[in-house]
Amino acid sequence: MVIDANFEPELMTRLIRERSAKVRAILLTHTDVDHIAGLPELIKALGPVPVAVHDAERDVIVEGRSLRREFVVEGPRIDNVVSLSPGTAFKAGSIEVDVLHTPGHSPGGVSLRIGDAVFTGDALFAGSVGRSDFRNSDGRALLEAIRTQLLSMPDEIEVYSGHGPSTTIGQQRRTNPFLN
Ligand SMILES: [Zn+2]
Repeated sequence: MVIDANFEPELMTRLIRERSAKVRAILLTHTDVDHIAGLPELIKALGPVPVAVHDAERDVIVEGRSLRREFVVEGPRIDNVVSLSPGTAFKAGSIEVDVLHTPGHSPGGVSLRIGDAVFTGDALFAGSVGRSDFRNSDGRALLEAIRTQLLSMPDEIEVYSGHGPSTTIGQQRRTNPFLN
């Protein structure tokens, strides 16, 4: 599976080709433009794979609506959209993903745990947390979700966020200034 579709989908398609991977789904941590802009290109390269998103942001990619009122951008319209439901495992091919609702940066923000790794989108970064100054953001909900959904994991879980370097849950619990 591919997680998020940024402005450089060709990097992803090249990696997929190099590994001869058969991609069964594209999963979105949320629908800010820098996470969905590459969808048309990816779908063109991969074929009509389903795109999975939390229901709270489904309209963004079904209707091409902007997630933010602050900067309105016309996004791609996707036909084959399925739901990422928190608390329900999402299965695609040989991979099973735990879907965790981590809203606050955006209403339908999710983190995706696969084994000993968690993909946190723009909720939790190495040394920072996501922006919550948009009209549909909620800073308290974000910190609450990070505490309950993410920091409850064991120290050694690897964190891959939407921007910047990877880290671990333990490292963030000890050193992230926004969580202490
Ligand atoms: Zn982002």
